[in-house]
Amino acid sequence: MKMLEGKVAVVTGGTRGIGYAIVKAFLEEGAKVALFGSRQETVDKAIASLKAENAAWDVYGDCPSLTDYKQVEEAMQKVKTHFGKIDILANNAGVSAREPLYDYDPSAFDKVMDLNVNAVFYCAKAVAPIMKEQGGGSIVNTSSMVSIYGQSAGCAYPASKFAVNGLTKSLARELGKDNIRVNAVLPGVTRTDMVAALPPEMVARISAGIPLGRVGEPEEVANAFVFLASDKASYITGATLSVDGATQV
Ligand code: NAD
Repeated sequence: MKMLEGKVAVVTGGTRGIGYAIVKAFLEEGAKVALFGSRQETVDKAIASLKAENAAWDVYGDCPSLTDYKQVEEAMQKVKTHFGKIDILANNAGVSAREPLYDYDPSAFDKVMDLNVNAVFYCAKAVAPIMKEQGGGSIVNTSSMVSIYGQSAGCAYPASKFAVNGLTKSLARELGKDNIRVNAVLPGVTRTDMVAALPPEMVARISAGIPLGRVGEPEEVANAFVFLASDKASYITGATLSVDGATQV
């Protein structure tokens, strides 16, 4: 039996990178998936590429503005109408930041917090009543290894991921009574477009500092989402699971 057979999942930021790998892993494990992206064009492209791999995969797309609660709530209701329920939410969409404090435009700080924190809260708030009504569900948030170590520039990014851990642990305590589990995955440096664009020497330098000697693959991060989303993790909530090859910075 596949790990997510019969489940319905929503994955935000599912058009590329880690989110796309999560969508694919969920489909491979038997789930039906609603993929959210920021533009209809990229959502359509991602769905076409998934369907080219397996025409039987049941995947649906939408592009609500995740920083607008009303749009998020409407989009979750549309998923419920389309698939009949929502068992899993993978809160994956996020942006990073590298600005030094001295040059930091406060509006740029707010933009990171809007997507990385507020949208995670909005999606959880919109989906929790649906899960409660069904008797439970699983929310998996995307944090980062920087939520342990911080980083030396772009302080909004680690601040946002510390907040994701805080939301994860607090919502796990609040929603446990409704059988809704809330966990977070903390990826280390993962080979998405951003890493693929780096010069090979730089990737080699980063890899040399990682005990496993390499950066992570999106599929390896997605595997942690599958486990935490599944009933195999039925007694795990409030956890922050590192998928970083034991990176220490
Ligand atoms: P990516 O940039 O490749 O993909 C980001 C996804 O988020 C895309 O699907 C994009 O469409 C979506 N997105 C961006 N802005 C959006 C918006 N305003 N509204 C809706 N969707 C939006 O990123 P990635 O590397 O795959 O990262 C995915 C998650 O993993 C993020 O939360 C990121 O912080 C986290 N993460 C990544 C790494 C890494 O090394 N790649 C490490 C740790 C954590």
